[in-house]
Amino acid sequence: DIESPSDLEKLSVIGHGNGGTVYKVCNRTSSSVYALKVLRFDQNAAAIRHQAACEAEILKRVDSQYIVKCHAVFDTIGGELCFLMEYMERGSLYDELSVRVNLPEDVISGVAQRVLRGLDYLHGMQIVHGDIKPSNLLIDGKGDVKIADFGVSKIVVGTRNACDTCMGTCAYMSPERVDPERWNGRNADGFSGDVWSLGVVVLECFVGHYPLIGLGEKPDWAALMCAICFGERLEMPETASPEFRSFVKRCLEKDWRKRATVDELLGHPFVNNKKS
Ligand code: ATP
Ligand code: MG
Repeated sequence: DIESPSDLEKLSVIGHGNGGTVYKVCNRTSSSVYALKVLRFDQNAAAIRHQAACEAEILKRVDSQYIVKCHAVFDTIGGELCFLMEYMERGSLYDELSVRVNLPEDVISGVAQRVLRGLDYLHGMQIVHGDIKPSNLLIDGKGDVKIADFGVSKIVVGTRNACDTCMGTCAYMSPERVDPERWNGRNADGFSGDVWSLGVVVLECFVGHYPLIGLGEKPDWAALMCAICFGERLEMPETASPEFRSFVKRCLEKDWRKRATVDELLGHPFVNNKKS
């Protein structure tokens, strides 16, 4: 058993995110391989530290084959917070897209099915993920996708405001989160926001670039906000099957009250005619 970061040997840096670095590490005694996410905080980072503490509390309770396993959370003397995670050998969907550009429909269908099952599990625990995007969907050695990173998740029931300062990544945010006034976001439960994000991700996988604004456009906050809240819903490419088009349309319904639920999508023909 690993009791502190000193039981681990750092093998390499996997990547950097907001405020943290992810390392490939191994257990010195058993030589099992893990990913270790190290979050550093400066004196002014009380809010971020609070967010990370939320993340740790949530992660401890999560155990699903569709979610990247978090084995332990360590507080270091230097004030860092370390998350010992299942190592996802093949990186993220973001990495995959930067190599392969886009993915065939049957692969996307498999990804969508696994993400939906993961969301079903989380939502069942009253957890909103809040940051579904390609870099938070990781791929293991078998090629299976799992959901990672509860950076902005919050437990909806109970500590409702605990992580309200946390900001999701705006590109994948739903209209009701980007503009709560217009889209009645104050009453939204957040679960439907995860469905929206999944819709953006699967569409991106198919067309090969962020789909809500034109390829040449600079994705600043204002342009994104306009595209998400006011943009005409992107027509699916002609080459997409009717099932895929219908799936994306149900995810990218701007009014969250009309948007498909995870439950409905699990029964959708786009994902439902698959084995496994
Ligand atoms: P954000 O900070 O918004 O989550 P991010 O997802 O790009 O942005 P990190 O979560 O810190 O940043 O991840 C950094 C890199 O490490 C990413 O490329 C990610 O694919 C990789 N990574 C994260 N967790 C693991 C893991 N458990 N196994 C393998 N690679 C991982
Ligand atoms: Mg991440």
